[in-house]
Amino acid sequence: MFTAEDAQKIRNNLDKVRERINNAALRSGRRPEDILLVAVSKTVGAEAIETAIEEKILDFGENRVQELLKKYDIFKERCNWHLIGRLQTNKVKYIIDKVTMIHSLDRPELAEEIQKRAMACNRTVDVLIQVNVSGEETKAGISPEEVYDFAVKMSRYPNIRVKGLMTIAPYTEDPESVRWIFRRLKNISVDIGRENIDNIDMQYLSMGMSHDFEVAVEEGANIVRIGSSIFGERQYP
Ligand SMILES: *Cc1c(COP(=O)(O)O)cnc(C)c1O
Repeated sequence: MFTAEDAQKIRNNLDKVRERINNAALRSGRRPEDILLVAVSKTVGAEAIETAIEEKILDFGENRVQELLKKYDIFKERCNWHLIGRLQTNKVKYIIDKVTMIHSLDRPELAEEIQKRAMACNRTVDVLIQVNVSGEETKAGISPEEVYDFAVKMSRYPNIRVKGLMTIAPYTEDPESVRWIFRRLKNISVDIGRENIDNIDMQYLSMGMSHDFEVAVEEGANIVRIGSSIFGERQYP
């Protein structure tokens, strides 16, 4: 059951997270309002999301299509939905007209399918290219060496608009140890931005989660995806 204390906890957590984002932004010479907080609501119930909306959170991240659809059904256009997890091609059709941004474009077949489905509903879809900076085999993403060529390929899809890059750093107790990953992603985005590829824009860097978002912001993140620091530890059914 969701109690008044649960709601208060979320409000307090949000205050703290926002303050930490603001401070990290200021440390890196940027404006706090230029950093978008995507609240990662996977496994989290509707009351918790409602509480966050009341606190002016408008962007939510989900990593499973089915769960996103369920929540979309409840909240519809009251907030923006971001698909942040691995996306199977056969599920693109369910979310194509519901998501604000897909953060996890990580392979050509997925782009092919997004193009097809986006065209069918006469939409242009904003996507981020997911980059596997750490090189961990278990992580999805284009390798840093291949991002440029991949971006060039993406520029040929009229219904896909690449808006930047995304990465997931390995979990660590010491966020300083993954600073290089965020710095590397930023450098890749600057390099690609310089090439002025048609239809490819490097406006967004989606990086930073609960345990490492301050370091990510210091290194240039302008979208952070934060779950447990807002909603508490996830309870998997
Ligand atoms: C779960 C998840 C997050 C949020 O993780 P927290 O550690 O709870 O902040 C961010 N990004 C992706 C891709 C995720 O799957």
